[in-house]
Amino acid sequence: MTRDDLKSEIAAWLRAAGIDEAALEARHILAAASSEAEARDMAQRRAAREPLSLILGNQPFWTLDLRVTPDVLTPRADTETLVEWALSHLADGGRVVDLGTGSGAILLAILSERPNASGVGIDSSAAALQVAEENARRNNLADRCDFRAGNWADGLPGNAFDLAVSNPPYIASAVLETLDPEVTDHEPYLALDGGADGLDCYRLLVPQLFRILRPGGHAAVEIGYDQAEAVNALFAAAGFADVALSRDLAGNPRVISGQKTETQSR
Ligand code: GLN
Repeated sequence: MTRDDLKSEIAAWLRAAGIDEAALEARHILAAASSEAEARDMAQRRAAREPLSLILGNQPFWTLDLRVTPDVLTPRADTETLVEWALSHLADGGRVVDLGTGSGAILLAILSERPNASGVGIDSSAAALQVAEENARRNNLADRCDFRAGNWADGLPGNAFDLAVSNPPYIASAVLETLDPEVTDHEPYLALDGGADGLDCYRLLVPQLFRILRPGGHAAVEIGYDQAEAVNALFAAAGFADVALSRDLAGNPRVISGQKTETQSR
């Protein structure tokens, strides 16, 4: 069987399993597999709706290539909206913190564009932190970031960071059960479950973001498409000024941001 025949067969197989980008994914599988048997094995896993990122073990994000495992959320293209916002509010040499860093995607993408910036990534999962550390090394950023175990900003100093970012879990628990099998069967609930209304983590997190920023510093969080109003209100209540919404490439609300102004400290 030729490589093209195998690719067509796998694409048909994936299409029949309900996978939208079957031809593209078949191409990725062929590129990653070193034998026909391995390609068939990968295709079988994919047809059973395991995410391609976990089958291949890596995922592109921003300009980086990141390792992903079942212990971290696979970085989504939507999250590049948060990276873009962050880059437009961070001078080179700044100090960044990423709360709930997972694979390290957001922090590493920011540091890759600001050669004199440094940062800290916090996660409550030791397994996720190992993945983040490997991603830092893989992208030659390990000397400018530090990954630490923690519960959001607990234990971090106040008035310390120029920029604070987070993509917390924000899916309402009941909605989470209705998502695609790739998500419900293979991605960490810890990274997705935002409680009854999806907002539990923001309630904890937003006041903490304010506390750890230096006066003049900026914070931004990723949100779900229907959470802009609620998270905007949490930012305002925490004391942030210039609270604003950014949309993703599809035009959906995706990031809420704000500034701790110079005269504020807490
Ligand atoms: N955007 C992700 C999804 O749709 C959710 C990310 C999150 O909860 N932080 O699965």
